[in-house]
Amino acid sequence: MVLSRASSDTDVSVHSTFASRYVRSSLPRYRMPENSIPKEAAYQIINDELMLDGNPRLNLASFVTTWMEPECDKLIMASINKNYVDMDEYPVTTDLQNRCVNMIAHLFHAPLGESETAVGVGTVGSSEAIMLAGLAFKRRWQNKRKAEGKPFDKPNIITGANVQVCWEKFARYFEVELKEVKLREGYYVMDPEQAVEMVDENTICVAAILGSTLNGEFEDVKRINDLLEEKNKQTGWETPIHVDAASGGFIAPFLYPELEWDFRLPWVKSINVSGHKYGLVYPGIGWCVWRTKEDLPDELIFHINYLGSDQPTFTLNFSKGSSQVIGQYYQLIRHGIEVTSLVIFIRSNIEFLR
Ligand SMILES: *Cc1c(COP(=O)(O)O)cnc(C)c1O
Repeated sequence: MVLSRASSDTDVSVHSTFASRYVRSSLPRYRMPENSIPKEAAYQIINDELMLDGNPRLNLASFVTTWMEPECDKLIMASINKNYVDMDEYPVTTDLQNRCVNMIAHLFHAPLGESETAVGVGTVGSSEAIMLAGLAFKRRWQNKRKAEGKPFDKPNIITGANVQVCWEKFARYFEVELKEVKLREGYYVMDPEQAVEMVDENTICVAAILGSTLNGEFEDVKRINDLLEEKNKQTGWETPIHVDAASGGFIAPFLYPELEWDFRLPWVKSINVSGHKYGLVYPGIGWCVWRTKEDLPDELIFHINYLGSDQPTFTLNFSKGSSQVIGQYYQLIRHGIEVTSLVIFIRSNIEFLR
């Protein structure tokens, strides 16, 4: 057999990029190169180097969503060029985020009237959500102390020693003393009795975790609520609870609907959840919801108007992509409350990880 064509002008070699001088001479690693290179070479160089990264689909350890349905991938790619912050330009995306906030608030039993809208915000992840929740608690506590003519310079927060690092970050960045309840042999979450014992007049909130970072265990939020109820009655302090439901907020409502850990408990004032854990969205989305408007001090909300109409924002960052919000909305309407198949999938994952 004879080859009908041995070479062409374009195929210098099988992989012309590899034979090009752009790939043969190495690029400076930490300096911007002097000259430009063709797009094919840039792509190939980066693509090949990234092959040394792990494969997300094989990662069962870091509990971040690694796969979404192709329909969702399509929606994500179609919106990857939209800046979420420009709410005037992308009003539908803004509306999808508001729908998500409302769906999540209802899922967590926020005490909302039929026509009332929920108070909440989409964030980059639970860490940002926790910074915002913490700031709201700190400000509310300060306002109350000021009104009472008491010192407001030594706020503290109670957590278990098992908290995720973002709580330590919050404490350090926003100058709140972190008072950790120690863990003990055989008991690896926050002990409700000890936690409430540590509460004093400077405590801005007790932070409970639904889905401890160490072992996935749920902390006993109901017990904390009941103990705080008693203590608040005795002292008049009104110490609230935040639930860090980063990894459990999209598990508990479906697997254990009767478990009371959310706004059904009166002292729970805010909850965060990561969309990118079992909210089944690629990394880059979290949520914070507040029980009522009163729980989010108005002075923390900024009103910006230079993109068009008045837009209230309460986030740490300004610009961000829209794709994850759209991905989250997709998962919420795709699965619904029923989520039978989803729950079976998650349950088998949890069992596997145990
Ligand atoms: C993952 C996690 C966080 C941080 O969430 P991100 O969404 O990664 O920012 C906070 N708290 C707990 C309990 C977590 O599991």
